[in-house]
Amino acid sequence: MIVELNKVVTVDYVGYFPENKEIFDSSKGEGREPITFLIGHQNMILGFEEEILGSKTGEKRIFTLDPERAYGHREEDRVLQMERGQFTDELEVGMQFQAEVQGMPMPFEVIEINELEVSCDFNHPMAGKALTFEVEILSIRNAEEEELTHGHVHGPGGHHH
Ligand code: ZN
Repeated sequence: MIVELNKVVTVDYVGYFPENKEIFDSSKGEGREPITFLIGHQNMILGFEEEILGSKTGEKRIFTLDPERAYGHREEDRVLQMERGQFTDELEVGMQFQAEVQGMPMPFEVIEINELEVSCDFNHPMAGKALTFEVEILSIRNAEEEELTHGHVHGPGGHHH
């Protein structure tokens, strides 16, 4: 069996920035576990899925994704000004909050503060960055009928409902 559309795949992975090798995510750290996901249902960034297509159990792949195949490019019009008074006094650059826009949670980061206004960056924190992944395929199985209908994995490593 190989990794392809509608297969359920479990992988170990390490993700790091190619320019400085700084690790931003890993399934191997303390308290972390391999991830399990359904191929072809937008559960993972597209480039990640594309790069492991055709691989077999036990296979390891290393690949670097440009921003357009990962979290996209930064867009300056996603930086919005909010009134300083909407925040508490203890506000610092780098703090992260969540706004609700039409019922959807929209995370943002404070990138600048002055007396009247706060600059809020709604870009994804990984936007504009190239990402390198080292991935090991631990297992591959066929998806259940219900998993395909829901578009996600059930049971260990997946949704419980
Ligand atoms: Zn479900």
